[in-house]
Amino acid sequence: MAQYDYDLFVIGGGSGGVRASRMAAQAGARVALAEEDRLGGTCVIRGCIPKKLFVYASHFSEDFFDATGYGWSVGKPVFDWPTLIANKDKEIARLEGLYRRNVEAAGVTIIGDRAVFDDPHTLRLINSGKTVTAKTILIATGNRPTREMGTTHIVPGGDLCITSNEAFHLEKLPRRILIAGGGYIALEFAHIFHGLGSEVSLVYRGEKPLRGFDEDLRDALMESMQRRNLNVLLGCEFTGIEKRGHCLHAETNKGATIECDQVMLAIGRAPNTAMLHVEKAGVDLGKRGEVVVDKFSRTSAQNIYAIGDVTDRIQLTPVAIHEAMCFVKTVFENNPTAPDHEHVPSAVFTTPEIATVGMSETKALGLGHAVDVYKSTFKPLKHTMTGSGERSLFKMIVDQKTQAVLGCHIFGWGAAEIIQMAAVAMRMGARKSDFDATIALHPTAAEEFVTMRTKSYSKTP
Ligand code: NDP
Repeated sequence: MAQYDYDLFVIGGGSGGVRASRMAAQAGARVALAEEDRLGGTCVIRGCIPKKLFVYASHFSEDFFDATGYGWSVGKPVFDWPTLIANKDKEIARLEGLYRRNVEAAGVTIIGDRAVFDDPHTLRLINSGKTVTAKTILIATGNRPTREMGTTHIVPGGDLCITSNEAFHLEKLPRRILIAGGGYIALEFAHIFHGLGSEVSLVYRGEKPLRGFDEDLRDALMESMQRRNLNVLLGCEFTGIEKRGHCLHAETNKGATIECDQVMLAIGRAPNTAMLHVEKAGVDLGKRGEVVVDKFSRTSAQNIYAIGDVTDRIQLTPVAIHEAMCFVKTVFENNPTAPDHEHVPSAVFTTPEIATVGMSETKALGLGHAVDVYKSTFKPLKHTMTGSGERSLFKMIVDQKTQAVLGCHIFGWGAAEIIQMAAVAMRMGARKSDFDATIALHPTAAEEFVTMRTKSYSKTP
């Protein structure tokens, strides 16, 4: 008889946990996966997928406007929030079913319960009260929106605020919404709500949103938000939120009180480790509560691994999936494989998008690279007939000495689709001359990357 109930027990049925459990089962392991909520995790249920559906919905307001330049008259567009929510819910339920069927088809036992550690090989299932044992345990519990506004305190009235979790299920579209934060989620939702017709104010504590992104992208985004009449309050933080009648009143450190219908906090996400009792298994946590792992995603307990957002390395679904596949190779295929966190492309689905792979100009200089910078801003062909003032920005950072492409950055329509392919080229070690030697596909925006012949400027660290 086997020493343990399972070869692998996965805690958390999000992108990372699902991929790891399926692949380990396909490699012949006896696998169980515990998920207390819906299968699919943040990405499928309350993140990337429903968000992107909302992004598509939000684009139509501008599309209707732009269409007039091409001879269309579409009448007065009317948006119905409940229809969007119902159709989105239907699609998410379909995807969840697909996830479940795929996991079951691989032979994984799905346990609809919350699992917590009793010791390094034993987990207790909270609802059923049963215990299970496993040789290897994988923590893939993800993270959740944080509500902590300061280092230690929750802003007074913070419980009146929503986070991205609730934004997907609001009964009605808020007429006026305040969004706190200057990262991915704050900016994406600011554009979603704006596109759907809400009056949006973004409240950000810093001097310019998207800290860490290339400065030119940040500037282009700010300019575009101003043109769209999105109200951006910089150097601004909430000091208290109060309900008065049907409205919320948010006080800021600037002494202003802003009236609105919803306040959304998008001020980062915290690892889901609080109730796991990892201390009983000898698993160390870091300062932010993240599971600390080595380069093979192994925790301080030798039979316990962790992948995805709970490790707070790079909080992106494809990274969690990659880490899952490396984990399975390492543990079940006798092929130790460390995840590669280089050249990870990412996009912020604002309107239009920001997409990026590799180093910003500031980062490249900070790392000691002398750089050649190629930059192009232009009015997209589509907008030559729409009257829109929107401009696109393409930027490439090249190492002066080796001519290796260090970073590609785009603000503009189709940015995310283009950057995915630039990431392939960069991963293969493309030089600027490889881009130059590639024949352009005309007329596209993407061709900018292969036609930028004239250096905009050079800089040394
Ligand atoms: P981010 O880390 O992207 O941004 C958090 C923002 O909140 C920053 O602007 C930060 O400001 C601000 N902030 C942090 N603490 C406070 C505070 N105490 N008071 C006020 N503001 C504060 O987090 P998100 O929640 O937007 O997203 C989490 C992660 O999820 C992202 O980093 C990304 O990896 C992933 N994600 C990816 C998406 C995509 O791929 N399109 C979409 C959504 C999320 P400051 O800059 O000053 O620190």
